[in-house]
Order: sequence, then structure tokens, then C-alpha cells
Amino acid sequence: MHALRQRQCMLHLRCQICGEETFGRSDERYLWLVAGSEPLQEGEESWSPPVHESCAAEAVRYCPHLRKSHVAALVDAPMFWGVAGLVYDPETLEPLPGEDDDGLTHVSFADPQLRWTVAARVIVTLHGCTPVALDDLVGAAV
Ligand SMILES: [Zn+2]
Repeated sequence: MHALRQRQCMLHLRCQICGEETFGRSDERYLWLVAGSEPLQEGEESWSPPVHESCAAEAVRYCPHLRKSHVAALVDAPMFWGVAGLVYDPETLEPLPGEDDDGLTHVSFADPQLRWTVAARVIVTLHGCTPVALDDLVGAAV
């Protein structure tokens, strides 16, 4: 996902597919959709912005990563946690090796390393997670 679009979507809780607001569900929750097979856990970190139900169905149909496997959850409260980025050594000013699959390190807003980090993505933690089957959710909305 484009770094600027990711930050804009996350900061304003806009849909990562269409870019429109995700506020307004009758249950006042947010739908989270990520690639993978493990259910989203309480307090889990995520850099994927929320999605609309109809956009999630489209994403699963056309995105090869999501088509392979995906999980979804309704989330009560996404909380801003930190960033994923390149951390530089304050002594050598050289970039340090990243910790995740993309070569980025997750740094919380409270971590002193934040001042030595060039952020690529905003990370939230997900609270009040209820795993949902996307097919059930999209089917119920039609
Ligand atoms: Zn959307």
C-alpha cells in the first residue's frame, strides 16, 4: 500500500480500498481485513486501515494475497500505537536491520528510538475484536 495513502487512511479511519470514511456502521465498529489465516487477536498491531464490507468483498476477489487467505474482525477501538519504519543508529547514522518481513521495525510512540525512525506506516492496535466470516457479513448486508 502507498505510504501516504496508508497514513491518510489510518489517521482518518478511511477505507483502504475506496478512501471514504468508515464511520457510520450501525454497531459503531470498524471492519478490519488482513491477509493470513490466524484470527485477529485483542491488542494486535495492524498497519492495514479499515474497510467497508462491500470494498472488502471486492478486495478479496481481486487481491492475490487476500484471495489466498484472509481474516476479518469487527473492532470497537483502533488505538494509535506507533510506526513501522527504518531505524537509524544514533552513533553511526547507518540504518539498522529491520525486524519484519518488509525490513521495517515497529516502534511505539513511547519508544525513544522513534526520533531515529523514518516512518513508512502508521500502526494501530485493535481493541474489542470480534472475528467475523467475511462471507457472512457481506451476505447479511445484501
Ligand atoms: Zn470502501
